[in-house]
Amino acid sequence: MVQKYGGSSVADVGRIQAVAQRVVETRRTGVDVVVVVSAMGNTTNELLSLASEISGNPGRRELDLLISVGERVSMTLLAMAIQELGEPAQSFTGSQSGIMTDTHHVAAQVLEVRPHRIRRALDEGQIAIVAGFQGVSLTGEVTTLGRGGSDTTAVVLTAALGAEYCEICSDVDGVYTADPRKIPEAKRMDTLSLGSAIQMANSGAKVLLAEALEQAEARGVTLMAGATNKPSGTGTRVVPGDVSNEVVGIARDNELYLLPSGIDLSSLSGSIVARILNGSALINARNLPPADSWSLKIEPVPVSTVSAIGKSLVTNPAITERAIQAVKQNAENPVWWSTNGQFTAMIKRGEADGVERSLHTALISTN
Ligand code: ASP
Ligand code: MG
Repeated sequence: MVQKYGGSSVADVGRIQAVAQRVVETRRTGVDVVVVVSAMGNTTNELLSLASEISGNPGRRELDLLISVGERVSMTLLAMAIQELGEPAQSFTGSQSGIMTDTHHVAAQVLEVRPHRIRRALDEGQIAIVAGFQGVSLTGEVTTLGRGGSDTTAVVLTAALGAEYCEICSDVDGVYTADPRKIPEAKRMDTLSLGSAIQMANSGAKVLLAEALEQAEARGVTLMAGATNKPSGTGTRVVPGDVSNEVVGIARDNELYLLPSGIDLSSLSGSIVARILNGSALINARNLPPADSWSLKIEPVPVSTVSAIGKSLVTNPAITERAIQAVKQNAENPVWWSTNGQFTAMIKRGEADGVERSLHTALISTN
């Protein structure tokens, strides 16, 4: 089994020791365990801010070497904590784990995985700990996979090792029908198809990284999203498969801006334009600097989208209509579209809470 622990699960020594305990318990049930770790807590941000104190435009090669350090700290400490519990463990950097990438620093793509050393460690009875988020390029340079990339490391290793499944462990005990902090009636799902999970993630749900889900789909990997403080094997199973027919979840994206028509769209990079609506561009600001620094002549309008995932929202007009009515209850002049296995409404950011709630009530709570 491959287990991945996110940054908050290894944020301090006590939590690292708790993870060590959980890993050892899993190992003692008789399975081979490979553990992928993120950097402790806020480490990656702290390293990036140190770099920005020195340079407004630090070299990408140095930046990758710098931020790959975070995961190396947590992997070694976790290996030591496991050894303290009496089990053999060895930690490995991305390069030692055979994560081969292209040369695109800070956002490298995994090209191939050659986990010979991990296999050897497992054969020797070791628990293998792998630094997430990093690899080595074909020219031998340390690369990183983009923010949140430890999920990707876990997925590609699961496929390369032929592991049964990959458990992604975080503060949240699974994937919910909506954000449970906003919608108390939201229910945890037992299973979810990768197709539906990808739509949820691309529509703003935060539980699993879209890139890792896409890798899981491409490689036929089953994921389990569970909580670090609950037993291994509990949570939501995310299994290969297409977007479901029934409505499975509601996701919200708050990092969007509408640029009015009249802006020269050719000056915008294609990847940030989420959609063109009557000549206006819907901009995905997730990886952009804050909007007030954009130096535009026209004010970008902060908007949100709330999406419901399920093919019946496209194929069954009665269900589409139910979604439209739910949006209209809580939004003035909404814009909506229903394509590609989901229904999405674009609304003013202040209306998103209400729309999320009414869509959940209309489409999910009544199921
Ligand atoms: N530490 C990296 C980040 O903060 C990678 C990860 O957490 O998955 O983006
Ligand atoms: Mg992190």
